[in-house]
Amino acid sequence: MKAGIFTTTIEKIVDMGVQETRHFKLTFDPGTVYDFEAGQFLNILIPETPEHKAIKRPYSIASPPVWKGYVVLCWKRVAGGIATNYLWTLKEGDKLTIQGPLGRFTPRTPLPQSIIYVSTGTGIAPFRSMIHTLLAQNAPCEIWNIFGNRYDEDILYKEEFEALAAKYPRFKNVFTVSRPKTWKGETQYVQFMLKKYIPDPKDKHVYICGLTSMINEVQKTALEMGFTKEQIFFEKYD
Ligand SMILES: Cc1cc2nc3c(=O)[nH]c(=O)nc-3n(C[C@H](O)[C@H](O)[C@H](O)COP(=O)(O)OP(=O)(O)OC[C@H]3O[C@@H](n4cnc5c(N)ncnc54)[C@H](O)[C@@H]3O)c2cc1C
Repeated sequence: MKAGIFTTTIEKIVDMGVQETRHFKLTFDPGTVYDFEAGQFLNILIPETPEHKAIKRPYSIASPPVWKGYVVLCWKRVAGGIATNYLWTLKEGDKLTIQGPLGRFTPRTPLPQSIIYVSTGTGIAPFRSMIHTLLAQNAPCEIWNIFGNRYDEDILYKEEFEALAAKYPRFKNVFTVSRPKTWKGETQYVQFMLKKYIPDPKDKHVYICGLTSMINEVQKTALEMGFTKEQIFFEKYD
Protein backbone atom coordinates (compact mmCIF):
# COMPACT_ATOMS: atom_id res chain seq x y z
CA MET A 1 0.00 0.00 0.00
CA LYS A 2 1.20 3.53 -0.81
CA ALA A 3 1.96 5.63 2.26
CA GLY A 4 -0.79 8.06 3.21
CA ILE A 5 -1.71 10.36 6.08
CA PHE A 6 -4.30 9.06 8.57
CA THR A 7 -5.92 10.38 11.71
CA THR A 8 -6.10 7.74 14.43
CA THR A 9 -7.55 7.63 17.93
CA ILE A 10 -5.55 6.35 20.87
CA GLU A 11 -7.97 3.67 22.06
CA LYS A 12 -5.74 2.11 24.70
CA ILE A 13 -2.55 2.98 26.57
CA VAL A 14 -0.70 0.33 28.57
CA ASP A 15 2.32 1.02 30.78
CA MET A 16 4.91 -1.68 30.23
CA GLY A 17 7.91 -2.56 32.39
CA VAL A 18 9.79 -0.10 34.54
CA GLN A 19 11.50 2.00 31.89
CA GLU A 20 8.71 4.39 30.87
CA THR A 21 7.66 2.24 27.96
CA ARG A 22 4.11 2.43 26.60
CA HIS A 23 1.93 0.34 24.33
CA PHE A 24 -0.45 2.44 22.22
CA LYS A 25 -3.39 0.93 20.37
CA LEU A 26 -4.32 3.34 17.56
CA THR A 27 -7.66 2.79 15.86
CA PHE A 28 -8.62 4.04 12.43
CA ASP A 29 -11.92 5.67 11.55
CA PRO A 30 -14.52 3.09 10.46
CA GLY A 31 -14.10 2.13 6.81
CA THR A 32 -10.41 3.11 6.66
CA VAL A 33 -8.23 0.63 4.81
CA TYR A 34 -4.72 0.49 6.23
CA ASP A 35 -2.77 -2.38 4.71
CA PHE A 36 0.83 -2.93 5.66
CA GLU A 37 3.41 -5.67 5.78
CA ALA A 38 4.68 -7.20 9.02
CA GLY A 39 7.86 -5.34 10.01
CA GLN A 40 6.96 -1.98 8.48
CA PHE A 41 6.90 1.30 10.40
CA LEU A 42 4.91 4.53 10.32
CA ASN A 43 5.75 8.14 11.05
CA ILE A 44 3.97 9.94 13.85
CA LEU A 45 3.38 13.58 12.99
CA ILE A 46 4.01 15.65 16.09
CA PRO A 47 2.35 19.08 15.94
CA GLU A 48 4.16 22.32 16.64
CA THR A 49 4.14 23.45 20.28
CA PRO A 50 5.62 26.56 21.95
CA GLU A 51 8.70 24.41 22.73
CA HIS A 52 9.34 22.88 19.29
CA LYS A 53 8.46 22.93 15.58
CA ALA A 54 6.29 20.27 13.95
CA ILE A 55 8.34 17.07 13.53
CA LYS A 56 7.84 13.46 12.54
CA ARG A 57 9.37 10.34 14.02
CA PRO A 58 9.27 6.72 12.84
CA TYR A 59 7.82 3.91 14.99
CA SER A 60 7.62 0.22 14.08
CA ILE A 61 4.17 -1.32 13.94
CA ALA A 62 4.04 -3.87 16.74
CA SER A 63 0.84 -5.64 15.64
CA PRO A 64 0.38 -7.99 12.68
CA PRO A 65 -1.51 -6.84 9.56
CA VAL A 66 -4.23 -9.47 10.13
CA TRP A 67 -5.43 -7.60 13.24
CA LYS A 68 -7.59 -5.20 11.27
CA GLY A 69 -8.80 -1.71 12.12
CA TYR A 70 -5.91 -0.70 14.34
CA VAL A 71 -2.15 -0.72 14.81
CA VAL A 72 -0.09 -1.06 17.98
CA LEU A 73 3.04 0.93 18.78
CA CYS A 74 5.45 0.23 21.60
CA TRP A 75 7.72 3.11 22.45
CA LYS A 76 10.05 4.25 25.18
CA ARG A 77 10.27 7.74 26.60
CA VAL A 78 13.71 9.18 25.88
CA ALA A 79 15.20 11.77 28.27
CA GLY A 80 14.93 15.16 26.56
CA GLY A 81 13.29 13.57 23.50
CA ILE A 82 10.85 15.79 21.59
CA ALA A 83 8.45 13.17 20.26
CA THR A 84 8.37 10.78 23.18
CA ASN A 85 7.85 13.53 25.75
CA TYR A 86 4.96 14.82 23.64
CA LEU A 87 3.50 11.30 23.35
CA TRP A 88 3.89 10.91 27.12
CA THR A 89 1.30 13.72 27.65
CA LEU A 90 -1.38 12.00 25.53
CA LYS A 91 -4.42 10.24 26.98
CA GLU A 92 -6.81 7.59 25.74
CA GLY A 93 -9.25 9.21 23.29
CA ASP A 94 -6.69 11.70 21.97
CA LYS A 95 -5.99 11.87 18.23
CA LEU A 96 -2.68 11.05 16.59
CA THR A 97 -1.82 11.69 12.95
CA ILE A 98 0.32 9.07 11.25
CA GLN A 99 1.96 8.68 7.88
CA GLY A 100 2.61 5.25 6.42
CA PRO A 101 3.08 2.42 5.99
CA LEU A 102 6.80 2.70 5.29
CA GLY A 103 9.93 0.56 5.24
CA ARG A 104 11.28 -2.68 3.83
CA PHE A 105 12.26 -4.51 7.03
CA THR A 106 9.93 -7.41 6.23
CA PRO A 107 10.42 -11.21 6.07
CA ARG A 108 12.58 -12.10 3.06
CA THR A 109 11.34 -14.88 0.82
CA PRO A 110 11.92 -17.68 0.11
CA LEU A 111 11.78 -18.27 3.83
CA PRO A 112 14.82 -20.11 5.22
CA GLN A 113 14.70 -23.12 7.53
CA SER A 114 15.12 -20.82 10.57
CA ILE A 115 14.54 -17.15 11.29
CA ILE A 116 16.28 -15.61 14.26
CA TYR A 117 14.96 -12.34 15.63
CA VAL A 118 17.38 -10.48 17.89
CA SER A 119 16.29 -7.34 19.72
CA THR A 120 16.55 -5.33 22.89
CA GLY A 121 13.82 -3.15 24.45
CA THR A 122 11.34 -1.66 22.00
CA GLY A 123 13.33 -3.24 19.16
CA ILE A 124 10.91 -6.12 19.70
CA ALA A 125 8.10 -4.12 18.00
CA PRO A 126 8.52 -5.23 14.35
CA PHE A 127 9.30 -8.78 15.49
CA ARG A 128 6.01 -9.03 17.42
CA SER A 129 4.29 -8.24 14.12
CA MET A 130 6.41 -10.71 12.10
CA ILE A 131 6.19 -13.52 14.68
CA HIS A 132 2.38 -13.37 14.91
CA THR A 133 2.16 -13.19 11.13
CA LEU A 134 4.47 -16.12 10.34
CA LEU A 135 2.94 -18.35 13.02
CA ALA A 136 -0.61 -17.59 11.87
CA GLN A 137 0.41 -18.35 8.28
CA ASN A 138 1.87 -21.70 9.37
CA ALA A 139 5.18 -20.67 7.79
CA PRO A 140 7.29 -23.83 7.62
CA CYS A 141 10.28 -22.47 9.52
CA GLU A 142 11.66 -22.48 13.02
CA ILE A 143 11.45 -19.03 14.64
CA TRP A 144 13.72 -17.82 17.46
CA ASN A 145 13.02 -14.72 19.54
CA ILE A 146 16.28 -13.68 21.22
CA PHE A 147 15.20 -10.74 23.36
CA GLY A 148 17.37 -8.74 25.76
CA ASN A 149 16.24 -6.36 28.48
CA ARG A 150 17.83 -4.72 31.49
CA TYR A 151 15.43 -5.69 34.23
CA ASP A 152 13.17 -8.68 34.96
CA GLU A 153 10.00 -6.56 34.68
CA ASP A 154 11.02 -5.13 31.29
CA ILE A 155 10.53 -8.20 29.12
CA LEU A 156 7.88 -6.72 26.85
CA TYR A 157 4.99 -9.06 25.92
CA LYS A 158 6.65 -11.87 27.94
CA GLU A 159 3.46 -13.82 28.74
CA GLU A 160 2.23 -13.43 25.19
CA PHE A 161 5.47 -14.82 23.72
CA GLU A 162 5.47 -17.65 26.26
CA ALA A 163 1.90 -18.54 25.25
CA LEU A 164 2.94 -18.58 21.57
CA ALA A 165 5.89 -20.87 22.36
CA ALA A 166 3.55 -23.24 24.22
CA LYS A 167 1.17 -23.31 21.26
CA TYR A 168 3.73 -23.53 18.44
CA PRO A 169 6.66 -25.91 19.10
CA ARG A 170 8.65 -24.35 16.25
CA PHE A 171 8.68 -20.96 18.03
CA LYS A 172 11.31 -20.49 20.73
CA ASN A 173 12.04 -17.61 23.12
CA VAL A 174 15.44 -16.81 24.59
CA PHE A 175 14.93 -14.01 27.12
CA THR A 176 18.00 -12.50 28.70
CA VAL A 177 18.15 -9.91 31.50
CA SER A 178 21.37 -7.95 32.00
CA ARG A 179 20.59 -6.58 35.48
CA PRO A 180 18.64 -9.42 37.12
CA LYS A 181 16.87 -9.01 40.43
CA THR A 182 15.06 -12.32 40.94
CA TRP A 183 15.53 -13.50 37.32
CA LYS A 184 17.06 -17.00 37.15
CA GLY A 185 17.40 -17.26 33.35
CA GLU A 186 20.01 -16.03 30.89
CA THR A 187 21.88 -12.82 31.78
CA GLN A 188 24.39 -12.31 28.98
CA TYR A 189 23.98 -9.91 26.06
CA VAL A 190 21.99 -10.96 23.03
CA GLN A 191 25.05 -11.57 20.83
CA PHE A 192 26.17 -14.30 23.26
CA MET A 193 22.70 -15.84 23.10
CA LEU A 194 22.98 -16.00 19.31
CA LYS A 195 26.27 -17.90 19.66
CA LYS A 196 24.91 -20.20 22.36
CA TYR A 197 21.58 -21.19 20.79
CA ILE A 198 22.29 -20.95 17.04
CA PRO A 199 25.50 -22.83 16.42
CA ASP A 200 25.08 -23.37 12.66
CA PRO A 201 24.31 -20.50 10.21
CA LYS A 202 23.15 -22.82 7.41
CA ASP A 203 19.77 -21.86 5.88
CA LYS A 204 19.05 -19.20 8.51
CA HIS A 205 18.23 -15.48 8.44
CA VAL A 206 19.05 -13.14 11.33
CA TYR A 207 16.99 -9.98 11.85
CA ILE A 208 18.23 -7.40 14.36
CA CYS A 209 16.36 -4.36 15.66
CA GLY A 210 17.12 -1.67 18.24
CA LEU A 211 19.94 0.73 18.95
CA THR A 212 23.01 0.85 16.68
CA SER A 213 25.52 -0.24 19.35
CA MET A 214 23.65 -3.51 19.93
CA ILE A 215 23.06 -4.10 16.22
CA ASN A 216 26.78 -3.67 15.50
CA GLU A 217 27.71 -6.20 18.20
CA VAL A 218 25.20 -8.79 17.00
CA GLN A 219 26.19 -8.32 13.38
CA LYS A 220 29.89 -8.70 14.25
CA THR A 221 29.19 -11.90 16.17
CA ALA A 222 27.00 -13.31 13.38
CA LEU A 223 29.73 -12.65 10.79
CA GLU A 224 32.34 -14.30 13.03
CA MET A 225 30.03 -17.31 13.34
CA GLY A 226 29.96 -17.70 9.56
CA PHE A 227 26.74 -15.90 8.62
CA THR A 228 27.08 -13.96 5.37
CA LYS A 229 25.92 -10.33 5.00
CA GLU A 230 23.05 -11.61 2.81
CA GLN A 231 21.70 -13.57 5.79
CA ILE A 232 21.59 -10.54 8.12
CA PHE A 233 18.95 -7.78 8.10
CA PHE A 234 18.60 -4.92 10.55
CA GLU A 235 16.59 -1.83 11.47
CA LYS A 236 18.37 0.90 13.43
CA TYR A 237 16.33 3.06 15.80
CA ASP A 238 18.98 5.75 16.38
C1 LIG B 1 12.54 2.77 11.42
C2 LIG B 1 12.49 3.19 12.88
C3 LIG B 1 11.56 2.61 13.73
C4 LIG B 1 11.52 2.97 15.07
N1 LIG B 1 10.63 2.36 15.89
C5 LIG B 1 10.63 2.65 17.21
C6 LIG B 1 9.75 1.95 18.10
O1 LIG B 1 8.98 1.06 17.69
N2 LIG B 1 9.78 2.29 19.42
C7 LIG B 1 10.62 3.27 19.90
O2 LIG B 1 10.60 3.51 21.11
N3 LIG B 1 11.44 3.95 19.07
C8 LIG B 1 11.46 3.68 17.75
N4 LIG B 1 12.30 4.36 16.92
C9 LIG B 1 13.03 5.53 17.46
C10 LIG B 1 12.12 6.78 17.35
O3 LIG B 1 11.89 7.11 15.99
C11 LIG B 1 12.72 8.02 18.00
O4 LIG B 1 14.03 8.22 17.52
C12 LIG B 1 12.78 7.93 19.53
O5 LIG B 1 11.47 7.66 20.03
C13 LIG B 1 13.28 9.24 20.14
O6 LIG B 1 12.52 10.30 19.62
P1 LIG B 1 12.41 11.68 20.40
O7 LIG B 1 11.90 12.73 19.46
O8 LIG B 1 11.69 11.50 21.70
O9 LIG B 1 13.94 12.00 20.77
P2 LIG B 1 14.90 13.06 20.00
O10 LIG B 1 14.48 14.44 20.37
O11 LIG B 1 14.97 12.71 18.55
O12 LIG B 1 16.30 12.63 20.63
C14 LIG B 1 16.77 13.03 21.90
C15 LIG B 1 18.13 12.35 22.16
O13 LIG B 1 17.94 10.97 22.53
C16 LIG B 1 18.72 10.10 21.68
N5 LIG B 1 17.88 8.91 21.39
C17 LIG B 1 17.03 8.76 20.35
N6 LIG B 1 16.38 7.57 20.45
C18 LIG B 1 16.84 6.97 21.57
C19 LIG B 1 16.55 5.75 22.20
N7 LIG B 1 15.64 4.89 21.72
N8 LIG B 1 17.20 5.47 23.36
C20 LIG B 1 18.11 6.33 23.88
N9 LIG B 1 18.42 7.52 23.30
C21 LIG B 1 17.81 7.83 22.17
C22 LIG B 1 19.01 10.91 20.43
O14 LIG B 1 20.23 10.46 19.86
C23 LIG B 1 19.08 12.33 20.98
O15 LIG B 1 20.36 12.58 21.48
C24 LIG B 1 12.39 3.99 15.56
C25 LIG B 1 13.31 4.58 14.69
C26 LIG B 1 13.39 4.18 13.38
C27 LIG B 1 14.40 4.82 12.47
